Amino acid sequence: MITRILCVEDNPQNMRLVRKILIGAGYEVVEAVNGEQALAMIEQEPLDVVLMDVNLPDIDGLEVTRRIRQMPQFNNLPIVALTANAMHGDRERCMEAGCNGYVPKPITKVELFATITQMLRQSGRAQGSYEPSVSEAEIPGRGNARTAPMQVPSPAPDRFSR
Ligand code: MN
Repeated sequence: MITRILCVEDNPQNMRLVRKILIGAGYEVVEAVNGEQALAMIEQEPLDVVLMDVNLPDIDGLEVTRRIRQMPQFNNLPIVALTANAMHGDRERCMEAGCNGYVPKPITKVELFATITQMLRQSGRAQGSYEPSVSEAEIPGRGNARTAPMQVPSPAPDRFSR
């Protein structure tokens, strides 16, 4: 399965740069040019990572991030802040808003790749891997395999080992 990345960015040059870098690396890129569009797109198709420009024309990128985090189904969706003004406390503000990573502008290929790779690894979405959604994990015989060991009462193994 191809890794799909949503880039939320209102600056056409930055968008072009990110698109070129990511498509060149085999990622699929979907684009939003403002916060409202980002919020609409996020519910339309499955995404592996969101790159979120902090300065957007309508809703602040950090506010968009907060709204995404209010939706439980996107709790584990990695969001990377793209920020132009590398000011003191910027990273903290991004993390507090719910971002998982931070790439200061001007964006470099190395930094972008490193951050995306880290995000995919942390969320268990290594490229080409498949992570079941919450609803799929609840189907008996599938996701249950993961939770089954926790349902084994602890006294039983103890008794046998003694
Ligand atoms: Mn911007």
